[in-house]
Amino acid sequence: LDADATPQQAKVRSKGLDVPRLWAEEKSKRKPSAAFVVIGHVDHGKSTLMGRLLLDTGAVAQRDIDKYQKAATELGKSSFALAWVLDTDPQERERGVTVDIAQHHFSTDTADFTILDAPGHRDFVPNMIGGAAMADMAVLVVDANQLDSGMKGQTREHVLLAKAVGLKKVVVAVNKMDDTKPTAWREAAFEAVRDEVRSFLTTSGFGEEDVLVVPCSGLGGENVVKAPSSMGAAAWVAKCNPTLLQALERSIPSETESKTVTQPFRMQIADVFRGSIQNPLSVAGRIVAGHVQVGDSILVQPSGETAAIRALDVIDEPRDFAVAGQIVTLHLQDIEAQHLRSGDVVCDPKRPVHLRKSFEAVVEAVDPLLPQAVDIHIGRLHAPGRIERLVEVMGSETGRKKPRIVRQGQKAKVKLTFEDAASSGFPLVDGEKVVLRAAGATVGYGVVDAA
Ligand code: GDP
Repeated sequence: LDADATPQQAKVRSKGLDVPRLWAEEKSKRKPSAAFVVIGHVDHGKSTLMGRLLLDTGAVAQRDIDKYQKAATELGKSSFALAWVLDTDPQERERGVTVDIAQHHFSTDTADFTILDAPGHRDFVPNMIGGAAMADMAVLVVDANQLDSGMKGQTREHVLLAKAVGLKKVVVAVNKMDDTKPTAWREAAFEAVRDEVRSFLTTSGFGEEDVLVVPCSGLGGENVVKAPSSMGAAAWVAKCNPTLLQALERSIPSETESKTVTQPFRMQIADVFRGSIQNPLSVAGRIVAGHVQVGDSILVQPSGETAAIRALDVIDEPRDFAVAGQIVTLHLQDIEAQHLRSGDVVCDPKRPVHLRKSFEAVVEAVDPLLPQAVDIHIGRLHAPGRIERLVEVMGSETGRKKPRIVRQGQKAKVKLTFEDAASSGFPLVDGEKVVLRAAGATVGYGVVDAA
């Protein structure tokens, strides 16, 4: 196809919509929605469970599963058919591009959900942080038969990262209940894992009331969307436990975006897509503040280039506008791909975010903090840096200026500096979550104070 035929050439004009007013009207009619990340140890059944959710809510057709099933059986891996659903991102299929943070949508009568997943590199911490930073809540999958490995390693790290990016609600799926030994759906196995996970989450700082734990089987589909069917399960499961889907619906955080809709527009880019004829260049992310509409001009930082929004999608549907809290894809024109990278910020050109080589943040110490080298993660942005200075330990009794060390569990204001002297700095959004890591571990987390 001729490049001149692309809509890139057409001028888009803003409709000049009064977005805050339209949003206030729409919101009252809209179903509640939430995006979640799926965390937990490898092989505990995360992908299978998500495939099951998508199948049983009708987001994926049975004939697609049958196709995967056939292919999987030929490879001698028939139990992986459901997991393949998650590894086939709709955007990747349509556009032939790879994405770092894939979105899968499903709906019920009362709510809309988005699964945020890092295909291909689920174990890659920067992507995990990027996905979690866009989420409203977390789903933790724990194999009912792996009490020992369940609360160690990857699970422990994921839980800490979920906490670090500010997630409050956790739904725990105690999975593979069909396979508990010596009999399937053994209640004592569920209770042991439930109690262990609960105590781990609460000592990690999650509120007792913010954690729901459900027994389920992703592979068999029991107690995920459908109520348990096997007789052994039904007796005790149905009595006192919601399905995974009901637990998700109950955990949707109350909306917070209304406050920020009228602020200047800010969105960190999670993914850049190129290639489709219809939409040659698009960026996806979660709007942190403000709103945008088709035809708006936006500024990209750090490149300093502007672009026009020729179309935008919310949950894969074309829309006229989008607001803070929504996960969107903006289809752009009048800009080249080289000016757009994940971790960049798009913003209101009249009230832009500024580039910072250093900034202050209020962080809680996971390990004792000294002036030291750290990797600075802010959503999809990650860059080497340093804790330049310990400014002040917070808290009335211990609070004091210029401490020599911030002890484990203490909160402190610190000054952070990016190491890359050649760069002109990074775009920071006030109030964004920051995670500090050193030697492969999270050492502190908190909030950017870019004011
Ligand atoms: P992930 O690494 O956490 O995404 O785990 P997968 O979804 O890839 O599953 C790992 C293995 O556990 C696969 O062989 C699955 O078929 C199996 N599995 C997943 N869910 C269940 C379940 O509910 N019951 C049983 N018995 N096996 C399961």
